[in-house]
Amino acid sequence: MAPFQIRVFGDPVLRQSAAEVGEVDDSLRRLADDMLATMYEAPGVGLAAPQVGIQKRFFVYDIGTGPGAVVNPRLSNHDGEWTYEEGCLSVPGLSWPIVRAERVHLDGWDLDGNRLSIDADELLARMFQHECDHLDGILLLERLDKRQRKQAMRALRQRTLGLPEGEPATR
Ligand code: ZN
Repeated sequence: MAPFQIRVFGDPVLRQSAAEVGEVDDSLRRLADDMLATMYEAPGVGLAAPQVGIQKRFFVYDIGTGPGAVVNPRLSNHDGEWTYEEGCLSVPGLSWPIVRAERVHLDGWDLDGNRLSIDADELLARMFQHECDHLDGILLLERLDKRQRKQAMRALRQRTLGLPEGEPATR
């Protein structure tokens, strides 16, 4: 069983801005291991600490090139536009084509306390933007256009009523 239960849409923790990590220590490294195990089981390509109820500026990822973790990330140099079908482990079962910057630069720290400075594009840049949004309390729903958001809210409302997937709302 995954070490954590992933928090889903409606949980207030997903709407809060997370605090800077003060120190990279063993407890953070253990947290990273548990978050990666949770992410792989889901499965997903990224998981931010607030998604497991921890209000820290920290996320783990693996876009197929091996596991990584970023502490206190900062994005800059947003460039270009790229539309890509994007989902979120906290909004399970739904995805939308979403426009984001095609390239970003990420600064932060790794789990050994070393400085990170990464020029990212496409999927890596997309994931960085998605996870950094989580640290600011922003869900991908806020990146949808008006029509997409309307459909999303309808699907989520249906789910909140506790209706089985795919069954019409009769209550
Ligand atoms: Zn997400």
